[in-house]
Amino acid sequence: MYTRLTESDPAICLVETMSATTEYVPTAKEQAFLDTVESPRYERETINGLAPFFEGREPEDMRGFYTADELAALRLLKGTPRDVEARMPVKVTRHYFEMAKHSPALQRLVKARPAETADLGGAEDPGHQMDFSPVEGLLHKYEMGLLYVASTCSAHCRFCYREELIARKEVERGDGTVARKGLAQILEVTDYIRSHNQLVEQNGGHHPASGREKLREILLSGGDPMVLPNSKIAAWLSALAEAGIEAIRIGTKEMAFYPDRFDDAFLSMLDAFHAAYPDVGLRIVVHFEHPDEFLQKGADGDYVRGPNGAPVWNERTYRAMRGILSRGWVRVENQSPIIRGINDDPDALRILQRAIKWIGAENHYFFCGRDIIAYRAFNVPIETAWMTLNESQKGLSGVETHARLSITHYRGKTEVAAVTNEPIPGVPGTENGVVIFKILRNAGDARSRGKVCIVGRNPAAIWFDDYADRVIFDEAGLFDYERVEHARKAAGAAVAAVTTR
Ligand code: SF4
Repeated sequence: MYTRLTESDPAICLVETMSATTEYVPTAKEQAFLDTVESPRYERETINGLAPFFEGREPEDMRGFYTADELAALRLLKGTPRDVEARMPVKVTRHYFEMAKHSPALQRLVKARPAETADLGGAEDPGHQMDFSPVEGLLHKYEMGLLYVASTCSAHCRFCYREELIARKEVERGDGTVARKGLAQILEVTDYIRSHNQLVEQNGGHHPASGREKLREILLSGGDPMVLPNSKIAAWLSALAEAGIEAIRIGTKEMAFYPDRFDDAFLSMLDAFHAAYPDVGLRIVVHFEHPDEFLQKGADGDYVRGPNGAPVWNERTYRAMRGILSRGWVRVENQSPIIRGINDDPDALRILQRAIKWIGAENHYFFCGRDIIAYRAFNVPIETAWMTLNESQKGLSGVETHARLSITHYRGKTEVAAVTNEPIPGVPGTENGVVIFKILRNAGDARSRGKVCIVGRNPAAIWFDDYADRVIFDEAGLFDYERVEHARKAAGAAVAAVTTR
């Protein structure tokens, strides 16, 4: 149940009425759909933690995945502030291990290394994401809500920046209390959606406090929603549909970690959902970093090619991807960060983008990392990331190069649109070229879309602050800290209007 912060807020009566019951009760239509859902158990054969490797309890064929020297170095860090497992638990599925055996990039993705905690610098929340959390487990930005519905994944990426959720760390809340980050609950979230959207409608299309439009899209995230049983995923889908959500995305790396999860029972659940709620758009947002995660490799280490030269997909991943794509009404999009030592490689990214488009999915975003605590072992400098992606797209067709490089500023999702090498004659600060940022989506409302910010180059920069002393032109307001503060206050007011107990 919510508590009110402002007596005059018209959302309050609605919220209080809606929260009179403490458990979400599905409608008859939802229940009819939920009754059709099968939830089989899956055997992912997951190895958890370094202990099995330290103690020689790992399966026979996994022996040697960590060398004796690697284990000795990791053991020395146990219990110290540099303990890599305290930062992010170690976890790998057998499916991923089988591919990683032949791939240094994939090993880098799941194997812990002492270098991960060599630099513990960075900020807890450099993009101030928590300013946008009106309800536990929900981030409300743009016209979209991101829900934390699971606190683990089938395997763990070493570079994950949801590590405070996955490692169950305590975080400081806006009100000064300290607690573990919680997961979204159906009743609270759907109450919030209804009350926000009712206010927007009553106010002519914009929220009276934040100026935001209708909350119409939801991304189910975590952790990975695909670790949940089908029944739980289905409960989210139908409850969100009943709350008036127009499009739902499921963000998942399961297609790389355990593609067999996308089996007939899951697809039947999607079919039944689509039959019950045909107006709700569905997208599966997959997360492939590197083509080694889904392409077949020969004994020579090269990708196996089909008769026309196209690389051949791993059979299980191909079956899972085609199973979804063959529906027609559900889209599949790939998005991935660019991570040092994993995919900061133009050739790998070129093959990845080509193969994703070949199978019928879309290349959506590549991301720059944030300057989060203990993340610097993984950060690729912003300009290097842009050049790597740009280089990777040389030789690709127009439809294969839809992906953009994005970095999440407090003001919104921002594209790293261009990096130049030449000075602009007569413009001080451009001697080494410039970087052009462009606002793609404003965190609050849509007004700043398309606005740009131009800064002088800093090849070592990993975050906006590294450009603060070389701003040339900033109509986007990325470095106008007064405006940023103003936007933060506006978001805070919106959060305060409906907040958790
Ligand atoms: S799949 Fe995503 S949430 Fe899970 S560990 Fe990897 S980056 Fe983190």
